[in-house]
Amino acid sequence: MRVRFAPSPTGFLHIGNARTAVINHLVAQKENADLIIRIEDTDKERSTKESEISIMEDLKWMGIKWTESPEMGGDYGPYRQTERFDIYKEYTDKLIANGGAFRCFCTREDVEADKEDAVKNNKPFMDRCRNLSTEEQEKLVSQGKEFTVKFKVPEGETISFNDLIKGDISFKSEHIGGDFIIVRSDGFPVYNYIVIIDDTLMKITHVIRGEDHLSNTPKQILIARALGLPEPQYAHMPLLIGDDKKKLSKRHGITSVDLYKKEGYLPEALVNYLGLLGWATESGEEIMTQERLIELFSISNIGKSAAVFDFRKLRWMNGQYIKNYDLKEITDMFIPYLEDGGFDLSGTDRERIESIISLVRGNCEVLSDIVNYMGIFLYEINEPDEKTESLLKEDYSGDIIKIASELIGCLSESDFIEKLIPGIKEKTEHKGKKLFHPLRALFTGALSGPELDLALPLIGYDKTKKRIEYCREKYLK
Ligand code: GLU
Repeated sequence: MRVRFAPSPTGFLHIGNARTAVINHLVAQKENADLIIRIEDTDKERSTKESEISIMEDLKWMGIKWTESPEMGGDYGPYRQTERFDIYKEYTDKLIANGGAFRCFCTREDVEADKEDAVKNNKPFMDRCRNLSTEEQEKLVSQGKEFTVKFKVPEGETISFNDLIKGDISFKSEHIGGDFIIVRSDGFPVYNYIVIIDDTLMKITHVIRGEDHLSNTPKQILIARALGLPEPQYAHMPLLIGDDKKKLSKRHGITSVDLYKKEGYLPEALVNYLGLLGWATESGEEIMTQERLIELFSISNIGKSAAVFDFRKLRWMNGQYIKNYDLKEITDMFIPYLEDGGFDLSGTDRERIESIISLVRGNCEVLSDIVNYMGIFLYEINEPDEKTESLLKEDYSGDIIKIASELIGCLSESDFIEKLIPGIKEKTEHKGKKLFHPLRALFTGALSGPELDLALPLIGYDKTKKRIEYCREKYLK
């Protein structure tokens, strides 16, 4: 079995395409199949080297494992379409020779006029160059006339195939919309044409891709038939939609893998989430190691209808991965985010950083969340934001600040953890939220964060004392 992922390097790796890559990866791992990466870079205006590099980096980052690629090479290369033009040329010549395709010398205006004419006279549109003899074509070529190469769509044919996800599909050739261009006038072959040549020559057995390509498949099959090439098995995955049931777009949330990486999603979580889209395990298991995902995954699990991309759920899933990751490794992953967030970690030893992270990672759904919690431990005073300030200005908070400030003077490094919070509780009549919110705001400068009893030892006596004094001066009327 051989599968492929064939990105067009025209931008960042989109989450929908990343899902296609993940599914091909899971299939390849499960079936011990080859996974080929082919770069489809024939769109001259939009393809860039930077995009190819960033897509390859993102695939690597996600842990996708392939067996052949432009970088790696392989038995069926080259793996970049712009390096395969000689091959396509050979097939174009073959098609022209066997009557499967013809050179078309019409201008756009000619075609428009003929189309209008066909509508007016209620007859099917036929390209006027369709029936030029080989000699006539060659004569026009020798006169230096510009031409495109068009594929001759056979009349009255039904193209049927069994899609592994969509089931039996049938297309009538008249719905293809007439003969279509396979080589542009600048000599560039078009996607629908070369994709099937490449799939065949690269011995792809299963084409697993997004449903947006379903309507291209009959064209690709017709080309294969005209060239006497074998047809691969197809599996078209339903598209991803947002919670409003519309096609997934930037309006819904982050759509490029690159930005997920930047925000601090873990590749394991992203692969887990994308791999599970559109189906569910019988047991309801959701957080799975890749081995388990591969064990339970089957292409036939994927449903026929569009899958809703749930941004909240992916974020939650990422949080679960962060919570359960090896502490040392997750610390290494958090550190760049802290440095970017302006934290100077040079004076803090590794053990202390790990202890803090062990405590606050449960509050982080993405790695970048860490910057909201580190000031609690690293700054002398973690400046309260507006909301925290207004809470600290409440009368009930004032009572607590006053008691804390009287108490802290009588306590020391060795007993403040044991005695400070219980002591405050004993002396105030406030309970519940009116007690715990001010305590949290007073000691941490924030309204949310890790459990206070566990945070206090890591904040330490000196900072706690300073913060109480600061709040007393600033907020006590
Ligand atoms: N290059 C195409 C794309 O990025 C994919 C082609 C295919 O999978 O057949 O949409």
